[in-house]
Amino acid sequence: MTWALATCRRGDTIDLAVLREDGAVVAPPELKQWATMLELLGDWRQAEDILRAIELDEAPVIDHDCLLAPVRWPRKVVCAGVNYRRHIREMGGAVPGEGWTPFFFLKPPTTTVIGPTDAILIRSPQAARYDWEAELAVVIGIGGRDIAAADALAHVAGYCVANDVTARGYHKRLTVPADAFIYDWFAAKSIDSSLPLGPGITPAFQIPDPQDLRLRLWVNGELQQEESTADMICPVADLISAASEVVTLEPGDVIATGTPSGVGAGRGLHLRHGDLVRTAIDGLGALENPVIDRTGWTS
Ligand code: MG
Repeated sequence: MTWALATCRRGDTIDLAVLREDGAVVAPPELKQWATMLELLGDWRQAEDILRAIELDEAPVIDHDCLLAPVRWPRKVVCAGVNYRRHIREMGGAVPGEGWTPFFFLKPPTTTVIGPTDAILIRSPQAARYDWEAELAVVIGIGGRDIAAADALAHVAGYCVANDVTARGYHKRLTVPADAFIYDWFAAKSIDSSLPLGPGITPAFQIPDPQDLRLRLWVNGELQQEESTADMICPVADLISAASEVVTLEPGDVIATGTPSGVGAGRGLHLRHGDLVRTAIDGLGALENPVIDRTGWTS
């Protein structure tokens, strides 16, 4: 049985909780020593031992209003691009050979990250062409710099489901003063509410192999993406190692590991007002995010 660390809202309070596999949100007394997920993640060495022994069957069930993004907020959200073989081919590229350095970009944490049932708010969908990207997200528990790939998985607190919503229409700029500015990663990837995350953080000790997880994404019940993390070019350990050569990884950082094939771009599809996006990873749970067009809203 897998379970996940969750953050839920109850009226005016925000609580740390556990999302059990049966769907119940419970409050085991062992969690009381941490006020927030970020605090728990900052104390991961001690927390891990406590969580391994946690007793969930008798824990009191919490009446809650909704689940929030499990970590509020990640210190950094580092995202891998082009990291699945079949996805590179569908985007018209060639799979890189041995020794390839992973490609990363950043998303601003506090404005992109939303909860597992929150709305993806879009504007000007015809121009922006918002696309979906189901991804395995890695949550760092033990920070570090220049982490060796062989040691990298020991730095992972847990895993969750992410959707790296992307404005394809804003990615390539037609008129630029120099080649360096052809691709606008800020406009394509940094839009508010463009990173649904959750439903909770499944501790890594419950996931025997992060390269053997099945991702699926549906739009309005129609399956769009289905792939195993085995198709990754750079496995999770290599991504952590490569990212840590550039930035110091800290507890609470999230690394989104790239999306598999099945995005809308290759088929001329994009999200529209009223769509419902379901993103799931076996063993980690699912996100269910409605899409709302806020074109013309004043705030
Ligand atoms: Mg992505």
